[in-house]
Amino acid sequence: MKRYNVLAPGPVNLHPRVMEALSLPMIHHRTPEFDVILNRTLTKLKGVFQTQQPCFALTATGSGGMEALFVTCLSVGEEILVVNSGKFGERWVSMAKVFGMKVHELTVPWGQAVDPKVIAEILQKNPQIRALATQATETSTGVAHPLKEISTVLKNHPEVLLLVDGITALGAYSIPMDELNIDGLVGGSQKAFMLPAGLTLLSLSEKAWTRAETSNIPKFYFDLRKEKAANKNGETFFSSNVTLIRALDVALDLMFENGLDKHFHEIHHRAEFTRLQAGHLGLSLYSKAPSNTLTVYQLPEGVDGQKLRLHIEKEFGITLMGGQDQAKGKILRIGHMGYILPHQQLELMLAIYDSLKVFAPNHALPDKERYFQTLREDILRFWPSSVDRSTK
Ligand SMILES: *Cc1c(COP(=O)(O)O)cnc(C)c1O
Repeated sequence: MKRYNVLAPGPVNLHPRVMEALSLPMIHHRTPEFDVILNRTLTKLKGVFQTQQPCFALTATGSGGMEALFVTCLSVGEEILVVNSGKFGERWVSMAKVFGMKVHELTVPWGQAVDPKVIAEILQKNPQIRALATQATETSTGVAHPLKEISTVLKNHPEVLLLVDGITALGAYSIPMDELNIDGLVGGSQKAFMLPAGLTLLSLSEKAWTRAETSNIPKFYFDLRKEKAANKNGETFFSSNVTLIRALDVALDLMFENGLDKHFHEIHHRAEFTRLQAGHLGLSLYSKAPSNTLTVYQLPEGVDGQKLRLHIEKEFGITLMGGQDQAKGKILRIGHMGYILPHQQLELMLAIYDSLKVFAPNHALPDKERYFQTLREDILRFWPSSVDRSTK
């Protein structure tokens, strides 16, 4: 089988135990056997959301989860403030428009985080606003928005629901839903949950459930009220995604195995390593508020980022992502979620060094021997135990 190394900000490399779970024989979803797995998995999920509220796993990609939040607790004609700081902020904007909401768009320059003070000003001037939608991490730019500060602003606006797209955040760093008074939180299976695409994980606050009672947006598949009732009986409303739910069961065990903090720390560690390498290579970071889930390198002026990315894929078998729209060809996005071993971090940096040599001949790179020496030292420092093992 061909070896792949998917270091994109989703999809991600799968853990061997997840792959094993994915290959189990099919069982029917209306069986006591599956009910046990579903219940156990949804209960464990609460630990990642850090909530007392019910959590859901729907068969859809992350965008389906975003839609489920919208249609379940919002209403046609309601006013919503949307933080638009990249491609996924744009998605909330178009979604809100499609559902007939009145959108206040807070546009943030790409690469920057939203300023909570600006949110406070807008909410003060527009007391009719009923919801605020934002990303936790905006994957197109690598920015982590300040959820805690946003949550503090919203304390003065109890009528405003806080809806958070945590698709590249939830499961990779701490987002305590209840503590931050988040009213709707959504994650995606192929991102921080380290699975293939096809499941979206979500939860609503008590306040959001109250708003669901009067919500008038037309809905059918994504009506979470049906799912809530079905889950209470130990089932999903529609056919269960047995395969992915069994794999989620395993992925959650992996996350909790050494404690959630340890899991978050590992991802943070990869991010720190990758940011440090940017400095060694004379590259700057595109994001002014870098998330731990992906690192975005700003490529030197004049470099064709698309060609560089393809070179890394073809020559080294490593999949990274480039930029979209205004960042097209100018950046390299490196994911830190999923199953990543230290040697893959090493290979990644060797590949980036090599491709910069080819595609950025005018960029002042450190001498090869010197950089490889620094890289080796960094790997030993960041992952001492793994190197011990490989030399035994
Ligand atoms: C990937 C992503 C989405 C979209 O998820 P799909 O699974 O492709 O529908 C939405 N928001 C963010 C922040 C993402 O990273």
